[in-house]
Order: sequence, then C-alpha cells, then structure tokens
Amino acid sequence: MAIYTCGHTTPDSDSVCSAISLAYLLNKIGREAIPARQGELNPETQFILNKFGFEAPELKTEFAGCELFITDYSDIAQAPKDWAEATIVGIVDHHKLGDLTTSTPLECWIRPVGCTNTIVKEMFDFHKVEIPKEIAGIMMCAILSDTVIFKSPTCTDTDIKAVRELSVICGIEDFGALGMEMFKVKSQVEGVSARNLILRDYKPFDMHGTHVGVGQLEVVDLAIFDDIKDALQKDLEALRAENNLHTTALLLTDIIKEGSEVLVASQDASVFEKAFNCKLVDGKVWIDGCLSRKKQIIPILEPAFA
Ligand code: MG
Ligand code: MG
Ligand code: MG
Repeated sequence: MAIYTCGHTTPDSDSVCSAISLAYLLNKIGREAIPARQGELNPETQFILNKFGFEAPELKTEFAGCELFITDYSDIAQAPKDWAEATIVGIVDHHKLGDLTTSTPLECWIRPVGCTNTIVKEMFDFHKVEIPKEIAGIMMCAILSDTVIFKSPTCTDTDIKAVRELSVICGIEDFGALGMEMFKVKSQVEGVSARNLILRDYKPFDMHGTHVGVGQLEVVDLAIFDDIKDALQKDLEALRAENNLHTTALLLTDIIKEGSEVLVASQDASVFEKAFNCKLVDGKVWIDGCLSRKKQIIPILEPAFA
C-alpha cells in the first residue's frame, strides 16, 4: 500500500512542497509514496510548482484505511476529518506539538526550525539520497516562504544553510530575488473575495477548548489593503459567527516594514487585548516586528484561554 504524504488543511507552499519532496525521498528508499494536498493551491504555491515544472499533488480529503505521513502540522484541527481511521506512519513538522495521537509506532521528525522542507532536507542527508534539481527548487522556495526570506524570528541557521545548499543544487544563485518575486505573487489580492483572502492561509486552533481561527496575508506593501480592509473586517466577524468561534484574527503582515496589522473579531476582544497588552482601535492594532503567527501570535494567545 502506498503511503500518502500530505500537509495541513488550507495548504501553504511548505505543506504542498514537503508532500512532494518527502514522497520523492520515500520512493527513493523503497517505500512507495504519493503526494497529496487537502485543499486548493494558493497563488504562491502555483507559481512555485509552475516554475519548477510540477503538477499539483492529488487533491485528497479522505484518508480512512490509508497510510499517512503527515507534513507541516500535528494538530487535529488541521488534519483530515477521518484522520483517526488512517494509519499515521510518520510526522515531519516544525510547529508546536499538536494533539494528534496514534495507536501504532511512528517516525517523528519534529524540529524547531523555520520550515518543514528544512527538515526534509535533513532527511535526504540522513538517508544519503541525492536531491534532484527541481525538487531542490521547490524545497528552497518553501523555506524562503516560511522564513519570509530569513526575516522571520522562526528562521534558524539550519534553514539558511539548507537554502544555500539547495540554491547550488537548483542552480539559482540569487535566491533573494526569487523570494521577492514569490512575495509579489503572494501580494496580489485584486479580484479575490474577502472570504478567500481570509482563508488563503488560515489555521483553526483549539485553545484549551476554545475555538479560534487565525489567518495571515504576507505582502510587500500594506497599502494594497486600504480599499478592502473594511470588507475583510466584516467578513472576519461573519466567519467567526458562522462557525461559532470565540475569536478570528487576520494578520496583515508587511514583510518590508516588518510588522503586522492584526484585525480581530471576537466574542470578547478583551482576551486578545490582555494577551497582547494592547488596545484595539476599530478592531485592529499594529504589532511592530510581528511576522510569525506560529512564534509571535499563537504562543501568546493560547495561554489567555487557559
Ligand atoms: Mg504550513
Ligand atoms: Mg511550514
Ligand atoms: Mg506561513
């Protein structure tokens, strides 16, 4: 039986590219694997796959009876609904340890680095498998995306070393320029509905029994949101109410100014205000230096619901 490699719901570039790179590695070491994704590709991921000549992995949302190697998450909230009926054979991830459990032994590669593909790179090295040029390209782009071209506080020396090595393999010396090109693609919001923008890179969390959703849009200039911010805020509240969530938030991250304007919709916004020691004005606040949802938002918000 082939193993499915698959990342989180609302897949980002790291989830999609790690499914592909990990499946390639598993096949090379004699374990048949098929990459999959739980949702539509975002424009950045589409750009990366086009650039290096890859098809989108199989769209798959049901895994009952399948063997599954999870990439880029370990939270039930981001897993396929029938995850408990699948056999999870492995996890490769760079987030906080989530709440997935298994009934059989599994292989875990979990490290506090900036990107899952950095860990997949270590797996290639561990198994002494050569990385093909195109695979190196998508892995490098995923690391540049997750680490915001090394600016994110989640970025480590291991990520930078991985990008340098991958850039040699894929033959793209000026990876900074490619990173910027990618973030420009990511910054295109014209003609996209407020809901689709909120859900483009959205993660649901169970914070001590309280349900919260946090989206993030990383762009090169926040001015592109000037005309649509009101619509985003309205829809953030609609999304919260429809799903009976306590709080929804959307990070509008400016990767050049290095900070995020956070839009918040909440049953009780004082929880957010207390957690971040801030005052929301019209449901929003600028947090200087905030680039990472994983490191600068979730660990601060989660204890507020304990
Ligand atoms: Mg991800
Ligand atoms: Mg990631
Ligand atoms: Mg991200």
